[in-house]
Amino acid sequence: DLSRIMGDGDMIKLLVSGTIAYDSIETPFGKVKNVLGGSALHFTNSASFFTDVGMVATVGEDFKMDEIGFLKDRSVDLSGIEVDEGKTFRWEGKYGYDLNQAVTLKTELNVIESFKPKVPEEYRDVDFVFLANIDPVLQSHVIDQVKFPKAVALDTMNFWIQNRYNELLDVIRRIDILIINEAELREISKEHSLVKGAKKIMSLGPTCIVVKRGEYGVFMMSREEIFLAPAYPLEDVFDPTGAGDTFAGGFMGYISNIGDTSLKTLKQAIILGSVMASFNVEDFSINRIKSLDYMEIKERYSAFKRCMQFGDLEFK
Ligand code: AMP
Repeated sequence: DLSRIMGDGDMIKLLVSGTIAYDSIETPFGKVKNVLGGSALHFTNSASFFTDVGMVATVGEDFKMDEIGFLKDRSVDLSGIEVDEGKTFRWEGKYGYDLNQAVTLKTELNVIESFKPKVPEEYRDVDFVFLANIDPVLQSHVIDQVKFPKAVALDTMNFWIQNRYNELLDVIRRIDILIINEAELREISKEHSLVKGAKKIMSLGPTCIVVKRGEYGVFMMSREEIFLAPAYPLEDVFDPTGAGDTFAGGFMGYISNIGDTSLKTLKQAIILGSVMASFNVEDFSINRIKSLDYMEIKERYSAFKRCMQFGDLEFK
């Protein structure tokens, strides 16, 4: 029963702020222009299977709002999206046969340039917050407006690491969970080793570092232990854009559904996030997750679990 999983739609339980975009993407398997994307949109598309999400974002006057209307049927509150004068954020990217590495061809900030995220009054008591990839100054501004969240998670990318390094460190000091990819961890921490890099960032404040390693899976370091997960073995990867945000959506969506960040919950959330990301890469834009149903998610979670089970040694 899908409605039970998605929450009651009364009050939001997970707040996300980030970009809503028109993406133009080229992969070895095809090319699309001005399709729906953006960190907050990929995240919400995924998280909305498990919890009530409220979005804080901006779009330009050119944005076709009815294209994301389907999210309302999944209890997403879109009233925190403001329409500002100007054009919607645009990103152009390209992938070679190494689908783990996006090459940014063009970033047009447009309405993001003058954006000041306003968290609606009724969102301020929210328990879980995801600061999707956007200017770290804006991420800090969102934290200023929420009261006593149980956990705040953050994602970023090379564009901001290079252009706003100090501001990024300032916001990392204020969060609980950092969700980034391998190259970003190395770039932020200036360490090659994931273990050293994660420890260094934890010394700033976060209690959990989740490192996305594309087709190699996920590395997580918490105060208690390290956890490793593979990626779900897919035959075909079509477009990896949004995989990171879709992962984060499954991860935070589950945490928000369960209501805690115990080690057990974090580990299950990592697998569910990986399951959601594995669907996302099967088609361009938000299409695959948009048409997904809860049975498919459950089946792939079970299939994933079977891939990782093995017994203890029993020497004779
Ligand atoms: P990922 O999950 O890392 O593949 O994120 C892909 C999404 O990030 C795309 O849909 C883009 O619209 C969005 N994006 C690209 N560059 C930026 C940026 N500098 N800031 C925020 N979002 C971005």
